Amino acid sequence: MDKKTLALDNAELQRALRLAAKRVEHDETILNRFFDIELRLLACHKLSDLLDILLNHFKDVFRLSAVSIILFDPEQIALDLLEEMPVADRSRLKFEPDQRLLRQLYPSKTLHAGEIDLNMRKKIFPDNPYILSVAMLPLIRQNCLIGSLHLGAQDIHRYTVDYRYDYLSHLSSVISVCIENCINHENLHRLSIIDMLTSAHNRRAFDLEIVKEVTRSNRNSEPLSCLFIDLDHFKKINDEYGHQTGDRVLRTIGLLLKQLLRKTDLVARYGGEEFSILLPSCAKQQAEKVAENLRQKISVQIFRSLNGTPFRVTTSIGCSTYLPTDTDSEKDQKKQADLLLNRSDKALYEAKSMGRNRVCYKGFSYNVPQNNDTDHTTS
Ligand code: GH3
Ligand code: MG
Ligand code: MG
Repeated sequence: MDKKTLALDNAELQRALRLAAKRVEHDETILNRFFDIELRLLACHKLSDLLDILLNHFKDVFRLSAVSIILFDPEQIALDLLEEMPVADRSRLKFEPDQRLLRQLYPSKTLHAGEIDLNMRKKIFPDNPYILSVAMLPLIRQNCLIGSLHLGAQDIHRYTVDYRYDYLSHLSSVISVCIENCINHENLHRLSIIDMLTSAHNRRAFDLEIVKEVTRSNRNSEPLSCLFIDLDHFKKINDEYGHQTGDRVLRTIGLLLKQLLRKTDLVARYGGEEFSILLPSCAKQQAEKVAENLRQKISVQIFRSLNGTPFRVTTSIGCSTYLPTDTDSEKDQKKQADLLLNRSDKALYEAKSMGRNRVCYKGFSYNVPQNNDTDHTTS
């Protein structure tokens, strides 16, 4: 081989080497992005955070035109957990009560990719007519399809049948585990703080929250009001219309209270037919107004027994307001919370003894004298 041919071969080899090095570098960048995403997914405890990574971060990092997700959610657990998710994200998320659609999408439960036809686009990207190619990742746990992740591109050549999917396939297993973990973790937490009959918070959650709110009230120098609501003559409703109707009344009142209050207020079922409510940043006058509004709205609500007989329910409400102090001792804050609850309970007792279907207020002082805080009643 002469010198010239050798030099040419050498140059050719060097060019191939440079190309290979570039490809390795490119693959490494992509792999690092995948690792980064995987770490972020594994660190998630909230389903909404996890879906935010998939729907938004994933889309940006991999320069996709659209990402959508289907979740198999037969008991609407995911739907409940995502109640407060931004509307823009919710529109790219679909909840399926059964497996029909998922089985249609994955007859062999395997990842597939390529051009997307109109029929499929309607199913997975209903709002995006510009998606031309897609990678579809089945989300599988214990051999059951729990969802489907769709990566959509406007470039028809982005996902082709011979694209290498090893890492996407690995990622779909990681995502499946993460989704299942987040749902279980969050749902377990929810079960521990929510009352199953009314979906309001339970007493345990209330007892924890009232101390937190007293602390916050002290920190922000803002008043905190507490309402105690007891249904009047509820035993009679059970006796007359049956326990099931009684349960329905409790459920409706739980919903009504939540609808009538602010998102930052806390509604709890404190016991059988008693609800307790925390109104942060709410002073006496406003708290009495809120209580009176609740009493009034509940009293005009028409309930029906199982056989359709209409009836109404009245409530007695005790109300009290905590004014912030400058203590930061945990023990004192717990005491203050107990006192606030106790004063609302006393006010409720008074409302009952004064004839029911009314609001009573009881003030209290703890360390600091409070003016303009005389006890009185409205009905
Ligand atoms: P008052 O006006 O003095 O509050 O009278 P009341 O009948 O409401 O009060 P009482 O304490 O005598 O009875 C409370 C009733 O609430 C008795 C109990 O069976 C009923 N109750 C408690 N928890 C539930 C529940 O989860 N479902 C139903 N249906 N009833 C319940
Ligand atoms: Mg009662
Ligand atoms: Mg009671």
